[in-house]
Amino acid sequence: MSQRLVVKFGGTSVGSATAIGQAADIVCALQSEGHRVAVVTSAMSGVTDALLAGAVMAVSGRSDALAGVSDTLRTKHETAAEELRLADDERAAVLEPIHARLAEFQLLCDALAVLGEASPRAMDAIGALGERMSIHLLAAALRARGAEAVPIEASSIVRTDSTFQSAVPVMDVTARQAESVLMPLLARGIVPVITGFIGATSDGVITTLGRGGSDYSGAIIGAALHADEVWIYTDVDGVMTADPRVVQGVRTLDMLSYREMSELAYFGAKVLHPKTVLPALERGIPIRIRNTFNASHPGTLVLGKVGDGDRLLKGVTAIRAQSLVTIEGRGMLGVPGIAARAFGAVARTGTSVSMISQASSEQSICFLVSADAASTVVDALKHDFRHELERHDIESIWSLDHVVIITVVGGAIQETPGIAGRVFGAVGDAGINVIAIAMGSSECSISLVVAAADADRSVRCLHDLIDI
Ligand code: ADP
Ligand code: ASP
Ligand code: MG
Repeated sequence: MSQRLVVKFGGTSVGSATAIGQAADIVCALQSEGHRVAVVTSAMSGVTDALLAGAVMAVSGRSDALAGVSDTLRTKHETAAEELRLADDERAAVLEPIHARLAEFQLLCDALAVLGEASPRAMDAIGALGERMSIHLLAAALRARGAEAVPIEASSIVRTDSTFQSAVPVMDVTARQAESVLMPLLARGIVPVITGFIGATSDGVITTLGRGGSDYSGAIIGAALHADEVWIYTDVDGVMTADPRVVQGVRTLDMLSYREMSELAYFGAKVLHPKTVLPALERGIPIRIRNTFNASHPGTLVLGKVGDGDRLLKGVTAIRAQSLVTIEGRGMLGVPGIAARAFGAVARTGTSVSMISQASSEQSICFLVSADAASTVVDALKHDFRHELERHDIESIWSLDHVVIITVVGGAIQETPGIAGRVFGAVGDAGINVIAIAMGSSECSISLVVAAADADRSVRCLHDLIDI
């Protein structure tokens, strides 16, 4: 049956000419099976990091280091174009826009060097350049294989607000633009190769959806096009029971519910950007996570409901570099509004709270924020609660640094007795001290906060519970 598919390739999947060739083979095979395919791609691996590092060098006047970054980026793209063995006119057609983007990088960096600072808007203009280059390589590889393919910048499709570096899509405008730009191409069997990661405001200013956001782009475009499925191609066989870099003996999960997937992603499974699930869930579009380098593997299927005979626990994740902020004082007992004021103060610093611990009682409130925001958050809280601190209603506000949130995810956690006992038993037996916990009433997860030094050991010992 012919399907409308949105197929996204991550950075490693377009990280070299060989990888780009494999990605293009996958798309051509889908086309020849009669599917209509819209492709979304990341920048080549390492390119976004290099661009953003270059911007920081420009701001701090390190022009030599910046020149090195420019050279590396040029060589990486030129080598890929060379190794794709394109016809001369095709190679020229690919290199021309790539050189234009590299010139833009230089101009933007020159401007930052003069200003001595980089706004989030400028960082987005620079960060977006990687995808604006990779689309040309992948489209050319497709054309070299006989497909009709056109590179498309998502600024003409994905409308967002102006929250630079973490922009929020405006779905109705995006759907209209996708319909008018992409549908006619798909109807003619042409493959649009669209930049992941980026969008544009109503004024046409480029935004990005946040680091790792190309997955989210895939789901946004999938929802806008009413795709039958969204396929996320990456460098592992699918979603695994834990980060394969930390745990040996991880398994690829065949199936996950949207809830389980979003919980795994939110709590640190880097394989999918946490926001990816939402647009797919709203339209009931299945997501598959598959391996570009092992194309025959079925990968992981994410959908609304998974079979009842399924395993109880699905995965273990970690969010590193966290700080546990505590507000403590006996005078808080029974005083309404302390929590609201506390979270209001945190929100004003632009920090998001990754977990609220149930260790909090009326005499203390504990929550987790990323380590780099901790001192700003503590200062804001001390300022907002200065009168309570003077009166000793609040005794102290402080952060415990170098902690990690470890989360166990499984759809049936909530209704299965004894799970929490086994989780705490496992870490207790391993001699790991649990600093704080959270177990949502509706979420399918249990989270523990442990010292950073215990993180990997905690993940490994909880992973041993997965096959129960
Ligand atoms: P891409 O560039 O394709 O978006 P990412 O590097 O963002 O790829 O994500 C894939 C990586 O996520 C894998 O190479 C793997 O190391 C890491 N990862 C972390 N946790 C998991 C997990 N639970 N399952 C699969 N991969 C994971
Ligand atoms: N290239 C972007 C990044 O590295 C987006 C992505 O790859 O998902 O963050
Ligand atoms: Mg990614």
